[in-house]
Amino acid sequence: MKKNIHLLNIPSIVIRSQENGEIDYENFENTVRMNRHKPAIVLTTFGTTMKEAKDDVSKIKNILKKLAIQDHYIHCDAALAGSYGAFIEPRIPFDFKDGVDSISISGHKFIGYPMPCGIIITKRSNRDRIATGISYIGSLDTTITGSRNGHSPLYLWYALKKLGVEGLRKRYQHSLETAEYCKNKLNEIGINAWINPGAITVVLPKTPLEVKQKWQLATESDISHVICMPNVTKAQIDEFIYDIVNSKENVEEEELVFEF
Ligand SMILES: *Cc1c(COP(=O)(O)O)cnc(C)c1O
Repeated sequence: MKKNIHLLNIPSIVIRSQENGEIDYENFENTVRMNRHKPAIVLTTFGTTMKEAKDDVSKIKNILKKLAIQDHYIHCDAALAGSYGAFIEPRIPFDFKDGVDSISISGHKFIGYPMPCGIIITKRSNRDRIATGISYIGSLDTTITGSRNGHSPLYLWYALKKLGVEGLRKRYQHSLETAEYCKNKLNEIGINAWINPGAITVVLPKTPLEVKQKWQLATESDISHVICMPNVTKAQIDEFIYDIVNSKENVEEEELVFEF
């Protein structure tokens, strides 16, 4: 977002988040109220990177309606969780019927496409506003760059057809179970781990350096996470727990770099 805001050269305001990583609706409402004279492009996140927190799009939409912000656009970044958002119970609003204008989902995350790719779903009216006909390729140009990879849609189509809705649901159920298992095991050894509702990401305080390095744990300030992607097994979680229990190191306060 920062990069795009910079490229578009438009003013932006960062909204506060709650402790669980979800947008602070009150802060959002107050911010919009103070800027009512301006149109708003709102970015919601359906599964933040560290805590997999999900913003409730219907709440955002209601705030915009309440403040009568007619010119607005809501984009939902659903890079990881968009692939299984439809299976989350109870449902968390993030879809077109909840008020979004576009949703982006990565192909190389939950679906497992072997190269980076992603899709953006938007209303046809938005697509039509930017599409230009290119006569010699006999199709519409709808991207900022020109040529793009034709295999990505094919692979994604293949993966989705092969898995089917039930296959995807099973994948999600497996991930959900593994995440719950991981959280419980961490809690059993006295580690304060937690999961946002419907998430497959276990959030935990940062671990000893040797554990972090061995397991390549993504760490940001004082938290780490374990994302229970479909390939993660309970046996791996057991091994991970074993390493934490048997770690002789203490959690480092700060990784210090000494330069001489
Ligand atoms: C992974 C991720 C991205 C980046 O998506 P790419 O398709 O890998 O570029 C953006 N937002 C969130 C919330 C993510 O988890």
